[in-house]
Amino acid sequence: MKKKILLFCIVPALILTGAVFSQNVSCSETKFMLDTYVTLTARGFNAKKAVSECFDEIKNFEQKSSVYISDSEISRLNETGENTLSDELLRLVSNAKIYTSETDGAFDITVKPLADLWNIKNFTRVPTEAEIAETMPKIGADNIEISENSVRLKNGAQIDLGGAAKGYLADKCAQIMQKHRVKSAICDLGGNIYALGGKNIKIGLQNPNGARGEYFGYIEGKNISVVTSGGYERFAELDGKKYIHIISPLNGKCAESDVASASIIGKSSEKCDAFATAVCVLGVEKGLEIVRAESGIECVIADKNGRVYTSGNVNFKITDENFTRGN
Ligand code: AMP
Ligand code: MG
Repeated sequence: MKKKILLFCIVPALILTGAVFSQNVSCSETKFMLDTYVTLTARGFNAKKAVSECFDEIKNFEQKSSVYISDSEISRLNETGENTLSDELLRLVSNAKIYTSETDGAFDITVKPLADLWNIKNFTRVPTEAEIAETMPKIGADNIEISENSVRLKNGAQIDLGGAAKGYLADKCAQIMQKHRVKSAICDLGGNIYALGGKNIKIGLQNPNGARGEYFGYIEGKNISVVTSGGYERFAELDGKKYIHIISPLNGKCAESDVASASIIGKSSEKCDAFATAVCVLGVEKGLEIVRAESGIECVIADKNGRVYTSGNVNFKITDENFTRGN
């Protein structure tokens, strides 16, 4: 009889211990996707499944949206000037038009003809003023017409979702992680971070003058996205001058503002991504202005002299002595 009671106690205890351990299953995987390194980390019973589903989602979305894949929905739209798009791409294009007006034209997915002219993937030469002037009529979100499930591009416009796609996918990954009820997760899509979990975590901000993974400070928060953009990510030097992969739709040139890096913090990684790109175009003063005008986002902007500006209620701490507060 005693033996039986002991067994009744031990078996549930083992099951419980198993349950506790399985909650602590953790999974972390890095893949080169979206032209960058994507690292997904999760802890919880379904961590592995969640991470694998996120990678599938990213892969599918890249196939549909990339301008570097010739038969993607976006490439076909750019080629023919009209195409029906899947719901998620339609939503992203339509949101992008809103971001253009919220950023006073600084974020604009119609920069593609300029990005091609500047060849922002390889930067071989500086285009002439005449070439830029010739390209400018193709630029502008007004050249995008959406009707029901199709998009039409006017005036030779072409679009590139690269300035907000990683943010969109970070949101998507966060949703998948939540669906699988993971305890905590960090989705890092090439610097577009989404941190999920019950506890505050520290998210380091890349030092724009340092090696990859070297931080100049950190933000503390939970269930939050932090997206950083900056010229340090991709640039080239031509005739002794630095050119970055972010284009100003306002003058047709590579952005030349005083911003070294712009980090936007909020619940929508997609919006943070769009605004991070825009702030690099607009510069510190105007950048702070557009962020302050929006509800739901905050920012940390480092200028090229190591001055750091924040928009308001940001829990940010500088850890590198080469940086000081600007406001
Ligand atoms: P990000 O790394 O998020 O700052 O986005 C930069 C990418 O977005 C570039 O590689 C281009 O594909 C695209 N892009 C460049 N300039 C702009 C802009 N002003 N608005 C929207 N997308 C842009
Ligand atoms: Mg962006």
